[in-house]
Parts: sequence; C-alpha cells; structure tokens
Amino acid sequence: MAKTYDIVVVGGGPGGYVAAIKGAQLGAKVALVEKEVVGGICLNHGCIPTKTFLKSAKVYKTLQHANDYGVTNSGTVGFDWDKILSRKNGVVKQLTNGVAFLLKKNGVDVYNGFGEVKSASEVVVNGETLQTKNVIIATGATAVVPPIPGVKEAYEKGIVVTSRELLNVKDYPKSIVIVGGGVIGVEFATVFNSFGSKVTIIEMMDGILPTMDDDVRQAYAKTLKRDGIEILTKAEVKKVNDHKITYSFEGVETTIESDLILMAVGTRANSKGLEHLNLEMDRANIKTNEYLQTNVKGIYAIGDVNGKYMLAHVAEHEGVVAVEHILGKGHQKMNYDQIPSCIYGSPEIAAIGLTEKEAKARGIDYKVSKVPLAAIGKALADGEKEGFAKLIVDKKYLEVIGAHIYAYNATELISEYSVAMKAEATAYEMAHAVHPHPTLSELTLEAALGAIDKPIHV
Ligand code: NAD
Repeated sequence: MAKTYDIVVVGGGPGGYVAAIKGAQLGAKVALVEKEVVGGICLNHGCIPTKTFLKSAKVYKTLQHANDYGVTNSGTVGFDWDKILSRKNGVVKQLTNGVAFLLKKNGVDVYNGFGEVKSASEVVVNGETLQTKNVIIATGATAVVPPIPGVKEAYEKGIVVTSRELLNVKDYPKSIVIVGGGVIGVEFATVFNSFGSKVTIIEMMDGILPTMDDDVRQAYAKTLKRDGIEILTKAEVKKVNDHKITYSFEGVETTIESDLILMAVGTRANSKGLEHLNLEMDRANIKTNEYLQTNVKGIYAIGDVNGKYMLAHVAEHEGVVAVEHILGKGHQKMNYDQIPSCIYGSPEIAAIGLTEKEAKARGIDYKVSKVPLAAIGKALADGEKEGFAKLIVDKKYLEVIGAHIYAYNATELISEYSVAMKAEATAYEMAHAVHPHPTLSELTLEAALGAIDKPIHV
C-alpha cells in the first residue's frame, strides 16, 4: 500500500530540510526526498565549505602579519591545501550528519533518490509512489556553464570549473581567472588571493557586485585591487581554449592564461522531474506568491527554484512560511523588502533594505548617515580599521529603510538591522537602545546617532 503524507518535500537543502522539520514539529506527517546528501548546495558545496576556506585564509594572513600584534614568528608561514580540504570535508560532514539526525529525531521519513512530482498528490521516488496532500518543491538551482565557445570542452577537462568543483580541486592553482564579479566570484577571489594565487576577475557590467550599494561596491573594488586582484570590467568572454581565455574590452580582444577558470555567472533553477505539473514559470523559475503557493493547488515552491533570492536564509524562511500556510498555523507571509544579504570577503559586506540608488528611484525623501569603522575602539584593538556603516532612513520619521555595512564581522552586525526593520524601528530606537562597550555594535549606534543629528565619536 502506498505511503500517505500530509506534506512531501522534494529537495533537502536549507529550504527543504527546514520545511520538513517545521512541518513535523507542527504535527504533520512529512516525507523528504533527496537525491544526494541532505544539506543542499549551502552545506555541501557552498556557504559552509567556502567559510572554512575563508577561515584558513584568515589564519594564514593573520600569521603573516603576526608582528603587527607584537607576536614574533621566526618560522615560515605556509599552508597545506590537502589539510584545508580535509578540514572543510570534516566540517561539512559534521553538519550534514547533524541535519540527518534532526530529520530523524523529528520523525521525518527521508527517501534517498530522485523525486518525480506527478501531481500535487503523488511523488515517485525509486519506483515507489508517495501519496500526499501537499508538495513543497525545494529542488534548488545549478551553476550555469555559459555556452561560450570552448567552455564546455575545458569544463570536461577540469580546467573550467564551477564553485562546486573548485571546492574539491586537488592541485592548488597558482593562477585563477574568475568569470563573474558577483557574490561567488568575489568570495573565491579573496580565498585564492590570500593564499598567493594570481587572481583576475572578468565582469561584464561596469563594476563588481552590481546589486550592492554604490559606496560599498566602490570601496570593495578598491580593496580587492589594493590586495593585488585584477578586476576587468565591461569585459566579455569570447572564447576559451584550454587554459587560454579571450575577452573583449571596448572592441579589443585580449587573451590571458590561467591554471583554472571559475565560472561564477549565476545559477539556473532545477526543474527536472516537474514536467507533468504545468507550473507557471518566470523564465526558468517557478512563480510563487507571498505564501510560496504556485499556480497548482497544493504545490508550493521555495528557495532557489523560485528564483526570488538565491540565499539559504531566504529558503529557510520561505520553508517555514509555506508549511505554516499549508497547516493553517501562523500568519507569516514573505516580505522581500527585508532580506539581509552577506558577502564574505575581507572585510565583509552585509546589507538589508534599499540601496541609496533604490531609495532615490522610489522617490523617497531619505537621509544617509555614514560612520567610519576607524571611530570604533574595539575595531582598532582588533587591528581593523577599514570600512564603514551606511544607514539610510526616511527623512520624516527616521525609519530604517536600508543599511549597508562594510567591515569585518559585518555579517554578524546586520541582524540588528533585520530586527529593526521588522519592528519598523527608527534611528531613535536604535540610538536609545544601550549598546555595550567596547563592541563592534557601537558602529550601528553611531550610525543611528548620525541619522538623528551627529555621531559622538566621529
Ligand atoms: P551572481 O548573480 O551573484 O553574479 C554573477 C555575476 O556575473 C554578475 O555580476 C554578472 O554581471 C556577471 N556575469 C554574468 N555573465 C557574465 C559573463 N558572461 N561574463 C562576465 N560576467 C558575467 O551569481 P554567482 O556569484 O554565480 O552566485 C550565484 C547565486 O548564489 C547568487 O544568486 C548569489 O546570491 C548566491 N550566493 C550567495 C552567497 C552569499 O550570500 N554569501 C554566496 C554564494 C552564492
């Protein structure tokens, strides 16, 4: 007899596994179908493994500059790529095992295989049909390998890689060309530059990180260049011939050579196995509303597959919203105006809400407060002085409408703004809330003071 569920979740990444656990916690009978290891790109091939690389890079750089902190180091500082890889694998394994354990503990039935969604009430996996009342599609997205002449051949030879393969390269590259100056591009640029590779970014737009606030983009590009990363903008890759890559800039073609070529030009939603459903699409992405419902009753789509924000924390939140809607518990709906995004380089970038350009375009009467990191005592003690916080508030009430932090540990600081925006807080609440000293969080305090009147320490 076919197994029957309230919810079958297809895809076990951060969106899918969180939805499954939440559904089970709310009393539903839930199955999760995953063809690989639970944890998705984020845990297995993305957010987490890259953070282990960045940590190794940070330790390496700190040791190189130990003298700046009065610590002497008479030996040579080096790195062991094999050990960096195995540390990464260990962290990933610990986390994915943890997720598998949580699913089991919460009573979620996990099916290891490819899920084919036949309808809102039938999912087939390994030849078995699961009956269900609802389906949550959380199948994610895959890095694009663009149809540029020679790229496919070089990809098959392991010379062109996507971030997934790059996380497992056995031979450390002395040089790497990164096509795409987006989030993945700059994170890997930081890692490989820190370990001494020659790094070149080829970006087709007029600058890196096109979606970030202009002040942040400019500051970051300056830092990367100062650190020795070459950034070619308005450059279009024309062809690849093994290690040779030809790009054109203002009509002139130039060929450069590199050990590895990383393609980081975006992702495409995974829609295999959904062909029977007649889902309404927006290009390759499944169209959803604020409850993550698709046009087919009983079918929801969360995470990268709906193409709204390709971020693990968005997928997780969408998973909870979808499950609550299915079970009629909780009344959350998605608000895509309040999504924090983080870029892990050196320093870090974190942002939420509107950029200054967007505030202008929406015709909002706004005010900007910008505070340099060098004003913060804790930062100086930590040996960090590069960066700033930029707070954008509406002029009438001083309500927070955007925040952009460019600083070490910016990704930890941004949550204060997440809570502020959710609570519709103004610069007054942020400034009147006592911030501990000495902490990096004084940066947000000073920015709020600046939005009201003037910061104290600037
Ligand atoms: P992206 O969309 O962030 O950046 C792609 C970049 O490539 C853009 O700047 C684009 O202009 C450029 N580009 C596109 N085609 C090009 C071409 N032919 N030649 C040169 N440049 C080209 O994509 P990504 O960096 O591949 O990341 C994929 C997704 O994963 C993103 O949506 C990202 O948000 C997400 N992600 C997030 C994090 C994080 O939050 N820290 C980390 C990794 C990935």
